Amino acid sequence: MNQDTWGRVRDDLMQNLGRDAFNNWIKPLELVGESDGVVSFSVPTNFLGDWVSRNYGERIKNGFNQAGLEVDRLDFSVLPSILTPSEGADANDTRQGGSNLSRRSPKPDIDLPGSPLDKRFTFDSFVVGKPNELAHAAARRVAEGGPVTFNPLFLYGGVGLGKTHLMHAIAWEIQNRRPDAKVLYLSAENFMYRFVQSLRFKDMIGFKEMFRSVDVLMVDDVQFIAGKESTQDEFFHTFNALVDQNKQIVISADRAPGEIDGLEERIKSRLQWGLVVDLHPTDYELRLGILQSKVEAQERLYPDLRLADGVLEFLAHRISSNVRVLEGALNRLCAFASLVGREATLEVTQECLADVLRASDRKVTIDEIIRKVADHYNLRLSDMLSPRRARSVARPRQVAMYLSKMLTSKSLPEIGRRFGGRDHTTVIHAVRKIEELKSVDNQISEDIELLRRMLEA
Ligand code: ADP
Ligand code: MG
Repeated sequence: MNQDTWGRVRDDLMQNLGRDAFNNWIKPLELVGESDGVVSFSVPTNFLGDWVSRNYGERIKNGFNQAGLEVDRLDFSVLPSILTPSEGADANDTRQGGSNLSRRSPKPDIDLPGSPLDKRFTFDSFVVGKPNELAHAAARRVAEGGPVTFNPLFLYGGVGLGKTHLMHAIAWEIQNRRPDAKVLYLSAENFMYRFVQSLRFKDMIGFKEMFRSVDVLMVDDVQFIAGKESTQDEFFHTFNALVDQNKQIVISADRAPGEIDGLEERIKSRLQWGLVVDLHPTDYELRLGILQSKVEAQERLYPDLRLADGVLEFLAHRISSNVRVLEGALNRLCAFASLVGREATLEVTQECLADVLRASDRKVTIDEIIRKVADHYNLRLSDMLSPRRARSVARPRQVAMYLSKMLTSKSLPEIGRRFGGRDHTTVIHAVRKIEELKSVDNQISEDIELLRRMLEA
């Protein structure tokens, strides 16, 4: 075990957690060493150690396991100094002797707590369609800061539907119109981190003053503070103080205020005082519009890019989950086509994006499988789940179990449970049996092909 392994694990965490979370929680960890499957870290506070252990412990352990180091447990302690035996060149880096903690982790810059704004996330680049027109109009209104606005503006919706984009757009627009306005945009996670830091450095006054001095406060992904009581408390006070001063607040979350578990009632109701609008899942027209607008940037990037007719339509049809995925698929396709110097035809698209297309395929459920198979063999649903073992019932049941294994990601015990509470060994037996039969019995293999096509359609 050396700093290199930890370096690799850290790189992965950085990729997976994003910069904010990484900087707040992972960066302050200092590796002490590993022995007998226990990896020890030195942490600046017990709070941070507890928090990382509870929220990221499993990921860190998995990271080590993937890097080839078997780890059973992580230990986080506040150590006065790090006394690592020299192992690897990096050990020179760790300070020896009674170093003082505040020197190793300097006080953060409380003056500039915001998260950076993405230059691309403006109103100009936001494509408006039915699913997001209300959210867009409300965001515009708030950004224009007329006499009547909504306070707070609460935007919610699923992943990748444009919440962060709209919030940044509001921030840019306000900054444009009123360059002297103090606009503070930050993730709820960042808010919590600032709060914890100010407790730690006993600077609650500075924290309160800073947050109460802004003209516009925007907190992204507020569901993050669900269940975190003292952070919620502070958020509530900040919120009230700002509303009392008529300062604008914009909040986003992945669901409606009333649906965020672990959020105090008084906060839920406070959040609904203003305007609550949701971003609906995208529809085909909106997705096509977004693709058409994003393809222009790609054409500037790759002047020789050729996209065949129907490719954007195909993508808008097939990738309906979220805009981030859609955008990623378009970027990848354009890079690929330009790199190999081919026109991006439908075939090229299918080949290049096979994994994305597969992942956004419609998910088949065990219930659907049971229903379709029962239909196909003219059986009742209850026959599929009953203990009867007559061949005429048992075989179709096995077919359904086999398809459940092939077409869903459910485990064998889960599948067994769904078939009238059977054991997982019954499912294994069914899968083997059908595999065997498929190669010798044409009827069965045709049935299965037909059912599979119907289920995946
Ligand atoms: P969320 O915060 O809701 O998870 P984001 O705002 O990060 O989603 O959006 C994900 C990506 O999709 C961003 O790159 C964003 O620019 C893009 N996007 C989402 N909706 C739109 C839209 N209506 N027009 C243009 N781009 C969009
Ligand atoms: Mg977001």
